[in-house]
Amino acid sequence: MAVRAITFDAYGTLIRNESLRLIAQRIVADHRLPVRIADVFETWIDLYLEATQQTPFRRLREIQHTILSHVLHRLGVDAAAGPYVDLFFELTTKVELYPEVPGVLGALGGRRAAIVSNADHEHVAAWTFPLPVEFVLVSEDVGAYKPDRRVFQRAVERFGLEPHEVLHVGDSDVDDVSGAKAAGLPVAWVNRAGRRRRPDVPAPDFEIADLTELLLIL
Ligand SMILES: [Mg+2]
Repeated sequence: MAVRAITFDAYGTLIRNESLRLIAQRIVADHRLPVRIADVFETWIDLYLEATQQTPFRRLREIQHTILSHVLHRLGVDAAAGPYVDLFFELTTKVELYPEVPGVLGALGGRRAAIVSNADHEHVAAWTFPLPVEFVLVSEDVGAYKPDRRVFQRAVERFGLEPHEVLHVGDSDVDDVSGAKAAGLPVAWVNRAGRRRRPDVPAPDFEIADLTELLLIL
């Protein structure tokens, strides 16, 4: 492949965090709700995907406040969302790199690399590990969240390349696979847990189980 640069998603791709299901688990436990944790989690994720595609652009801290309030209200719970928003930020800022990441980033054979993430600047400021990439582009910089194609277009522009020359690598079927394909980038889907794609998501160009496999397709 004539890949001249690679854009990496952050969470679930380079960066490992504890499961966000803990938030649903905490809500159910705190209020002793007779509901399934999985259902609460799904409701929250659906609201999350929807909220990030609405205008005007809002940072994740505001979005999480709105949608977690909504989740609590739907469950009939009269409680503030603040502690759950804080838990979201705790889970997404106390993070580490997947073990293969330093080795893979050091073995890209001269290809340029960047990070393209739906994170807030607040998240990036909390990353304590070295990430040897040319730039980190977050949604706050663009005013849009993946899968919005503008995020990918901005990254391609910053490289000064054409979309087909930039491979996107990410773990989300919606944000990364659908978004990158819509912007004309080839995409490698990192499917660490062997999940199924949502039916409306196009096939990725590559599917890999972890980042070491990326080196085999370059
Ligand atoms: Mg991700």
